[in-house]
Amino acid sequence: MKVCILASGSKGNSILVAGSKTNILIDAGLSCKQILERLNQVGVDENSIKALFITHEHSDHIKGAGPIVRTLGIPLFINQLTFNDDDYRLGKIEKVKIFENGYPFTFNEFLIEPFSVPHDSADNSCFKISERGSLGKLIILTDLGYPTKLVKEKLKNPSTIILESNHDFDKLINGPYEWWLKQRIKSKNGHLSNSQACELINEIIHPSLKNIILAHLSEENNEPEIAKAEMMKILKERKSDCNLYIAYQNHPTNWIEV
Ligand SMILES: [Zn+2]
Ligand SMILES: [Zn+2]
Repeated sequence: MKVCILASGSKGNSILVAGSKTNILIDAGLSCKQILERLNQVGVDENSIKALFITHEHSDHIKGAGPIVRTLGIPLFINQLTFNDDDYRLGKIEKVKIFENGYPFTFNEFLIEPFSVPHDSADNSCFKISERGSLGKLIILTDLGYPTKLVKEKLKNPSTIILESNHDFDKLINGPYEWWLKQRIKSKNGHLSNSQACELINEIIHPSLKNIILAHLSEENNEPEIAKAEMMKILKERKSDCNLYIAYQNHPTNWIEV
């Protein structure tokens, strides 16, 4: 199984997961046209995409969802509260598949384990994804205010973590945002800061962790170099040879083997 982050950040998120036979998308926060362009950029035939999974109803995760599932004729996997909160923007969807956080299910060769995280949305889902018969496990962990016990439990054995590293705390506090928005971002239902991401990795790091991809970086309140340097410091201290990558807003990452 391998993964490519097509886009990451407050202007739109989408993640491409490639199994041995089929491909799936997690979130469609870019326009349908942009997603198809990025698939083309990374050499993936759009007809190989067999489903779209949605984490939550914020527009940076869902705005292209309706058009992309209609264009590709694929099912939309979403939890009930997220669907209820957003069906007016999704438009008419032919194949809606409702899942529930805490209840794993299979789709084609994939095992999908959705779980809850605290965020200011109806019922945010994060996903652990693995493929039958292969050792790699991928965790997608973005849009959460803080790492709960459940999150730490889920992080015990993945080989690849896509981890929110949204803001540098000082940049956020001293930055241009209005106070209410600063409060929202740093709240328990907001976004993980660089130091929260580092603390979490320091706590859960294990020998089978191969890749960390820092994601959902704020363009105003963070710098890729700052986020990367802070995490690198932890990896060095822990003598880990884990690969460290950054996911960007404006272009896809390389393929990363889970
Ligand atoms: Zn988001
Ligand atoms: Zn969100």
